[in-house]
Amino acid sequence: MLSATGLTLTLALLGGAPKAAPRTELVDAATVIPDLVLDLRYATKDNFLKKQVYPDGARCLLLPDSVKRLTQAADALRPQGYRLKVYDCYRPRAVQYEMWKILPKPGYVADPRKGSNHNRGGAVDLTLVTKDGAEVEMPTAFDDFTPAAHHGYTGGTPASREHREVLRKAMEGAGFQRNKMEWWHYDLPGATKLPVLDVPFTPAG
Ligand SMILES: [Zn+2]
Repeated sequence: MLSATGLTLTLALLGGAPKAAPRTELVDAATVIPDLVLDLRYATKDNFLKKQVYPDGARCLLLPDSVKRLTQAADALRPQGYRLKVYDCYRPRAVQYEMWKILPKPGYVADPRKGSNHNRGGAVDLTLVTKDGAEVEMPTAFDDFTPAAHHGYTGGTPASREHREVLRKAMEGAGFQRNKMEWWHYDLPGATKLPVLDVPFTPAG
């Protein structure tokens, strides 16, 4: 079903001389999850870097396994009256270098030499919205690097903690792993072993 999206990109591994250029397929998640809400913050200036580092028209690209799990989470949330809104999906490694130049601070930005799971198509930043797309209260805003963004945070309103748990249950139920410091960030299990990718947001031609 995923290959029916027709989105096949040739990917190049950065670093070293690859013996054979691996081909990996990233999928535009919005073509598979029709009610997915896109709010790709790095394609705007509304992010902690205060700079637009993604091109206009950037899409939510993810590995097929990530999209499959995201679809499961969206399916589980729909009957509860929620939809998923994504803040960040695949991030080209070139952008990781750009971010690192702006803010070379581990904990805020992953060192591009190591790469982030976002560079592998194996991480997604997201929140809940209502069926109508209205904001749902969470403990913090996206990319708020404070203890209030931790999963163990017991402050804030009960509603915000409840929403964080609804998202967590749906995402873990679909086989993602939470990040204990960032309520919005979920990883594909084993993603750190996957290749770092550098493909453009829009297909050539
Ligand atoms: Zn993230």
